[in-house]
Amino acid sequence: MKYILVIFYFLFFTLISVFSETLPYDYELKLNVVYLEDKNLPTISNKDIRTILNEAESELKIRFNANYIHFTYMGKRSLKSFFNKYLKRKSSFYKRLAPYKYRFFSGKINYQPYREKIKKFLRQWKLLYLKEFFDKKVQEKIKTYDDVIEYLFKIYLSKLKKIERLRLSNGKYLINRRNNKFNSYINWLVAMHFQDLYDIIITTTIIIYDDISKPYPHAVLRYAKVGGSSFESPKRSLLDGTAAMVNLFEMLTDIKYFKQPYHSRKINRMLWNKIIGRFILAHEMGHMIYLIPDVYDHPRGCLMDSSFETMDYYEGYKLLEKYPFPCPKCAPYVKAREMHLLADYLMKKKKYKDAIEKYKLARKMTPRKLDVPYDFYISLIYYKLAKAYLKLNDKNIAKFYIEKSLHQNPNNTKAKKLYNYIKRK
Ligand SMILES: [Zn+2]
Ligand SMILES: [Zn+2]
Repeated sequence: MKYILVIFYFLFFTLISVFSETLPYDYELKLNVVYLEDKNLPTISNKDIRTILNEAESELKIRFNANYIHFTYMGKRSLKSFFNKYLKRKSSFYKRLAPYKYRFFSGKINYQPYREKIKKFLRQWKLLYLKEFFDKKVQEKIKTYDDVIEYLFKIYLSKLKKIERLRLSNGKYLINRRNNKFNSYINWLVAMHFQDLYDIIITTTIIIYDDISKPYPHAVLRYAKVGGSSFESPKRSLLDGTAAMVNLFEMLTDIKYFKQPYHSRKINRMLWNKIIGRFILAHEMGHMIYLIPDVYDHPRGCLMDSSFETMDYYEGYKLLEKYPFPCPKCAPYVKAREMHLLADYLMKKKKYKDAIEKYKLARKMTPRKLDVPYDFYISLIYYKLAKAYLKLNDKNIAKFYIEKSLHQNPNNTKAKKLYNYIKRK
């Protein structure tokens, strides 16, 4: 009898801990995954990709109690045709970003015109945290954010120049002087903006972090490249226009410069796949699904931790293994997003009144510091509220919310359209 009780309690608590508190048990988030392969660089098999996806699903269950996230693998596709189709250089989107782009092989970063913008960007972190990225000698010299900028860009440029000189084992340069469009992060921002098929892209190409207006310390000071990122993909509606990219370059390359301690540890393929799935892909999902930013002040073992300790993938992965539980400081993000996802679900089921209640809750629960601009996100929720009220034929309240949406983010194009529609009606 005693044992039966023990088993009962075990099952009971497993059930509550595995299932989300907010979402219905049949709720599913199915994400389209593609593998874009760089033909000049080392690659992995479809079987490995499937393992990586399974590992990530399991990590998301541990960190966020997310039993509802599933991946649909669409196979390997060509990187070249992806960029031919989606890198629209004539678009206003591209033109807006182009000034901030580091020019490969130019030998200099012209950041002075953007100093104030950069300072504002860096101010989201305390000086104390930023200092930790530098060696002791430099730390002593850093007193202000301007000092951070000076040392940050000095190292940034040296990392860029170093990468431009690297060669593959066949003698070719890692970055091709003429054809390097896949290697620019800003180009990726543009291609991802226009693509309409994928929620997650896995790729093996090297992507240089070339957006000088946002010098993320963990990216810039490491190799000045991108290991993974979330993107705006407005045509993917599943998560309101976001998609993620996971980059396998560093894990597969045999260029010595990138050899971090984990290379010498003789890590087998299985452990590689675990590191990629759990430490990298699941982390990107944290940005994409829960809008948790890179954090530097959450408890140890937090999946979203981007502090110095986790700059080495292997060490970062070991920390995750050591602390296999949800992070309390990430929980508010998860709760707020699940409330929003629940509201979306209710909208689809045409339960508009219930959806309205949940959207309002989601708005209140959303933390201020998100991985996307706060105003942008709140504007989206107000837009959805307006839509729900329209479904109930309550034009006045719909108008009230669409005005709130536009007040929060005047550039919300969907809200503008809906505003004009309501006015005509
Ligand atoms: Zn991150
Ligand atoms: Zn956390």
